[in-house]
Amino acid sequence: MSLNSQILAGSLLGIGLGGLFVSLGSESVWTVKGLYLCQIISSVFINLLKMLLVPLVFTSIVTGVANLRLHSQLHRVWKLTLMFFVVSMMLAIMQGLLAANLFAPGKGQTLELLRQASPAIPAKTMTLGEFAAAFIAGLFVNPFAALAQGNLLAIVVFALLLGAALVAGGERYRNILLLLQESMEVLLSLLGWIMKLAPYGILALLAQLLATQDMLVLASLTKFVVIIIATTLIHGLLVLPLLLWLLTGVTPRRFFAGARQALVTALATSSSSATLPVTLRCMEQHLHVKPEIAGFVIPLGATINMDGSALYEAAAALFVANLTGIELDLGQQLIVCFTSLVAAIGAPGIPSAGMVTMVMVLQAVGLPTEAIAILLPVDRLLDTVRTMVNVEGDMVASLVVQRWTSDK
Ligand code: ASP
Repeated sequence: MSLNSQILAGSLLGIGLGGLFVSLGSESVWTVKGLYLCQIISSVFINLLKMLLVPLVFTSIVTGVANLRLHSQLHRVWKLTLMFFVVSMMLAIMQGLLAANLFAPGKGQTLELLRQASPAIPAKTMTLGEFAAAFIAGLFVNPFAALAQGNLLAIVVFALLLGAALVAGGERYRNILLLLQESMEVLLSLLGWIMKLAPYGILALLAQLLATQDMLVLASLTKFVVIIIATTLIHGLLVLPLLLWLLTGVTPRRFFAGARQALVTALATSSSSATLPVTLRCMEQHLHVKPEIAGFVIPLGATINMDGSALYEAAAALFVANLTGIELDLGQQLIVCFTSLVAAIGAPGIPSAGMVTMVMVLQAVGLPTEAIAILLPVDRLLDTVRTMVNVEGDMVASLVVQRWTSDK
């Protein structure tokens, strides 16, 4: 069986197993033992991916930037990359707002009713200004501390600068560049081994996800959950593939065939960062994006480009407004639009990160920040789809950038 079919089989078995655990009940010894085993398998898989994450991001960005600069493409590449990130996130936000305005989830429900069902958690409040200050301060950090702590944003910034400096230094630093390039290649072959575990890891993650979902809360939030999942899927299955096809001529069929390992891994892990090694592999090996473009766009995208999260933050803010009976006028919705963009850019690629940065969106329009306690029980479920679309956005971006910067 090919790896793709094994991953598909693993996903289906995982969903089946999760359903079995639900029907056995959480008290059953089989459920307890099964979930314990799933926990071990899934954490080994995620930890193996994370093990490669930091060295892979570092080496791929340095070598990517260096090679782009060498071919004097860096200017065009970074401009186009950032432009595409912003445009696709804005499109996602528009869809989120449109869906929330059309279907008005939360209207008729009250905050009090739902609050009883969910444990109150204290929301950490942060204004837009404080958030921006913390974000900027977090960009420039001692690189060794950043590497040791897995602080991706700071690693990305340092690697960008180092890559530029290596090329500016010319021949003198050729060996360092060569060392980093070969390190990246060896890390990718290591990833090939780890991917053999992917079907088991994904099986265990999906079984756990299903078995631990709080069905009671899910039922009371069905409308909201359905709207979010459907809108996110429209962005992922229609808007992004259409953009890709129009801008590059790559057909959706070809794209999804090459991208599916990364998409399934994103869905199961709910982490763009943990998925990053797989995303890079798909782009370079299956979709044939040049390593210097993929090495630049993908890690940058995994840290700042989040279409699914942006869509979610905007739609969820309107949902909370409906719950509290507050009407948001056009001006306020524009604020939601802008802050959702910033919040999605600032969210790290880890599970439920978007949930935390959403506090900022709520605050910007004066909505109660404790409301995130209501969304928390369903967040793990929603995070699967939004992370998948986050990762898809990065992949589409790298194909678009490659097409529009390659010499005719
Ligand atoms: N889990 C998402 C990601 O890793 C971020 C989020 O929570 O929105 O891309």
